Amino acid sequence: MRHLRSIAVFCGSNAGDDPAYAQAAAALGQAIARRGLKLVYGGTHKGLMGVLADAALAGGARVHGVITQRLADRGHLHQALSSHEILDDMKARKSRMLALADAAIALPGGIGTVEEFMETWTLNQLGDIDCPAGLLNVLGFYDPLLALIDGMVAHRFLPAAHREALPVDGDPERLLDQLAAAQKISVPKWIS
Ligand code: AMP
Repeated sequence: MRHLRSIAVFCGSNAGDDPAYAQAAAALGQAIARRGLKLVYGGTHKGLMGVLADAALAGGARVHGVITQRLADRGHLHQALSSHEILDDMKARKSRMLALADAAIALPGGIGTVEEFMETWTLNQLGDIDCPAGLLNVLGFYDPLLALIDGMVAHRFLPAAHREALPVDGDPERLLDQLAAAQKISVPKWIS
């Protein structure tokens, strides 16, 4: 089992069209606080990110925001965080978030969320980092992405072991348990 101390969470800067998304963001924030984990996230008060941070703070978690100068200049920085840092660009910000985290979770979100999740999974796949990333699959939001990933396996672009090891759950507590149990990827990415 991994000893998780901090979790990076990627999620929408919008709240989505169903209250279930915000409920799941709040439930994840509460679960992170209940487990005594630190939350590392995008540092804004917008959308699901704001709901997540507020719930984690209300539960007593330490919440660290990593935001870019441009977004901070636009007034997006959450004003009540335990700590934050402002970096030059999204690239620096993403690698800093991963450096600070023992595992990562993607809630539903837009292209920013999917990009962050995919880069994290890719870096694990290549062995550049060991920071398991999982999907909080609220209302089956990630089913189309999972279907695409299953197609990658079927068409031999992705080893089945990588898909099978991907933590996916609709429940934050179960997803955190899966991340704590996640093994470092050992099967090579190249299929002979
Ligand atoms: P999206 O899913 O496209 O809304 O993008 C959300 C993800 O991209 C978050 O996980 C953030 O890391 C990053 N991001 C996008 N917009 C913002 C913002 N206004 N403030 C901070 N981070 C953002």
